[in-house]
Amino acid sequence: MLVLVINCGSSSVKYQVRDTAATGEDAQVIAKGLIENIGGAEIPTHTEALHIMAEALVEPLHGKTIDAIGHRVVHGGEIFSEPVIITEDVITKIDELSPLAPLHNPAHVLGIRAAQETYPGVPMVAVFDTAFHGTMPAHAYRYAVPEDFYEQYGVRRYGFHGTSHDYVTGIAADFLGVERSEFNGVIAHLGNGASITAIEKGACIDTSMGYTPLAGLIMGTRSGDIDPSALTSVMIQNPEITAEKMDTILNKQSGLLAIAGNNDMREVVEAMEGGDERAKLALDMTSYRLAKYIGGYHVAVGGMQALVFTAGIGENSSQFRELAISRLGALGIKLDAEANLVRGDEPRVISTKDSAIPVLVVPTNEEKAIAEATEALTK
Ligand code: ADP
Repeated sequence: MLVLVINCGSSSVKYQVRDTAATGEDAQVIAKGLIENIGGAEIPTHTEALHIMAEALVEPLHGKTIDAIGHRVVHGGEIFSEPVIITEDVITKIDELSPLAPLHNPAHVLGIRAAQETYPGVPMVAVFDTAFHGTMPAHAYRYAVPEDFYEQYGVRRYGFHGTSHDYVTGIAADFLGVERSEFNGVIAHLGNGASITAIEKGACIDTSMGYTPLAGLIMGTRSGDIDPSALTSVMIQNPEITAEKMDTILNKQSGLLAIAGNNDMREVVEAMEGGDERAKLALDMTSYRLAKYIGGYHVAVGGMQALVFTAGIGENSSQFRELAISRLGALGIKLDAEANLVRGDEPRVISTKDSAIPVLVVPTNEEKAIAEATEALTK
């Protein structure tokens, strides 16, 4: 089946056409691209962007037609706990969830509408970044704040990166030869955005991102966990820092960027190796925070069968993995220094044979997961 996977942001559209029947990543990906600067003079709306995309797809498709379209949607709230066929009712609900994801959900609705115009009659599926976390129990997703925060504003933990955590969980269980429904593990998705998930019997029981993707781990430009009173205190002392400004500071000017002066893990590691003290502190903080979460989730899942690293940093930064794993001695986890340096697209073990818990690197592939979910609902 030919599936067009679309990820619409407010000013960009990322797309991939995948042949789900082909074998291997290279054969599956028929075309991919990124259209930016939507809203500017040349590409005023998502409709023009999708026309440009459709033009660019004519040649690689060789006259074949798209069978189905899968849309990545950031927020499914408490409504969507799995991928769904897109209907008018679904579009309305995605739109109604916009207060929870003000930058993303409105853009997804525009993208879905534009795709309907560009590919009339082609079935479409929405795959939600939050959906996989729908299995969290209340004791993990509730915050200890007055009830009406939850009732009126939907303030609870939702979690994100769900498509990746779900995909990687399945691959890791397979790789270990364990039935997914028997698999307990901890998945660390470490990219520009980073989150970690506790997996019990193949399902999510806790995750580090919260009401928004700001919570949890220290990320490229996001602070991760911080005492909320520190923020209200700063805002009271300096009224120029409005709520919007604070939101920007925490999402775009914090994390590695704030401490090391750079949000790219490669450059931060290089700086540390060159003796930069700020870079060292940033990496110590980031790996320490991660190790604390790993220890906590090991308890949450009743003893993990594997610790899994994925995404840009998790898959590629042997140095960062080493820093994090070196803090896990109390769990009997031992890194195999040589295996840690191996690079590649295949799942692999990076711990020693006598490590109490195996540590894996499992490359993620959100587009593939979205294409598979889309096929499953439309074939
Ligand atoms: P996003 O969340 O934007 O999808 P990615 O998963 O692509 O992010 O991860 C981006 C991060 O991965 C950056 O911090 C980058 O420095 C890091 N990264 C990518 N390739 C490498 C590499 N070869 N070595 C170390 N870090 C890498």
